[in-house]
Amino acid sequence: MTTTSPLSPSNAVADAPIPFLDLQPVYRAAKADIDAALLRVAGSGWFLLGEELKAFERAYAQSVGAADCAGVANGLDALALGLEALGVGPGDEVIVPSNTYIATWLAVSQCGATPVPVEPDPRTYNLDPARIEAAITPRTKVLLPVHLYGLPADMGAINLIAERHGLKVLDDCAQAHAAMYHGRPVGSLADLSAWSFYPGKNLGAMGDGGGVTGNDAAAMARVRVLRNYGSKVKYHNEVKGRNSRLDEIQAAVLAAKLPLLQAQTEERRRLAAMLLDGLAGVPLQLPVVPEGLDSAWHLFVVQHEARDRLQADLAKQGIGTLIHYPVPPHRQPAYAELGLGEGAFPISEAMHQRVLSLPLWPGMTDAQVERVVKAVRSAA
Ligand SMILES: *Cc1c(COP(=O)(O)O)cnc(C)c1O
Repeated sequence: MTTTSPLSPSNAVADAPIPFLDLQPVYRAAKADIDAALLRVAGSGWFLLGEELKAFERAYAQSVGAADCAGVANGLDALALGLEALGVGPGDEVIVPSNTYIATWLAVSQCGATPVPVEPDPRTYNLDPARIEAAITPRTKVLLPVHLYGLPADMGAINLIAERHGLKVLDDCAQAHAAMYHGRPVGSLADLSAWSFYPGKNLGAMGDGGGVTGNDAAAMARVRVLRNYGSKVKYHNEVKGRNSRLDEIQAAVLAAKLPLLQAQTEERRRLAAMLLDGLAGVPLQLPVVPEGLDSAWHLFVVQHEARDRLQADLAKQGIGTLIHYPVPPHRQPAYAELGLGEGAFPISEAMHQRVLSLPLWPGMTDAQVERVVKAVRSAA
């Protein structure tokens, strides 16, 4: 069975290696608009905080159903500025998943606050709401769920807990562009939402980029002040801000790519369904999508007993894979200060030894998916 991708195939040769990720099909699909955007900015002579940024901010806020969007320099800054705008500072605690990318934790540390890890649900990889309340202390300010691998976290339960304890919620949406939670887009489900537009994310710039979305006008105004040296009026600084702006080139590129995001996400869903179908019955833990959620399928992550052997076998067959992530944040030297040894977060630790991400990108051909399925079936 072969259907034609709406995007041009990235790799038509029958047994050419299949890379973990190929960004070329997405560029080719929007090439005319992206190239025009780059030239338009080059010719405009205006490179920061201009009309391109305003236009992208409006379009992106609308696409996630939020009142506002503020572009910033990258995803890490989006998280840190969002936390700061919600009032997080030294002495505060922020609840984070034990199994996220380390940027989630670093953002908390950059505000002078302490990340307090909570274990995930081992089926969905997302923060387990049943474990959150035990981690709340009088210092807790914010709950920071991550929609890991593109699957929305249990925001209904998380928002209820926040309400009960008078806490704010900031969600890390870096992997979840166009994901849906019970019919509502991710990006308008928390007090503030933080985005990354790193090139490999589902909506990626041609360099670093990030954004904060939300409906809280006062918090959004604080993000705008904080991203620009703490100033609203040039050379008048209300607070100690940062320099963290989404530049005009990146904003224009993102605006050119945004209209294709929905179709590309649907294509990811179709390819993921093919993988799920083809891998049924193989001794692997496959991704699970609970009722009512639509994953953005940033990553297609399986678990296997002998992950390293599986990865090596696939490499021999020319299939690129990656591990997200090999070491949990609490076991990184960067967080030695927390004194969290081996065994502190067993669900997370087991996961980090077993997870493997298979290739999945818009423009991947059905033939490529079938080859990945065949290779995994023979190796697993
Ligand atoms: C990519 C990512 C970030 C950081 O984004 P950058 O733009 O690379 O700074 C934060 N959290 C998660 C979950 C990510 O995947």
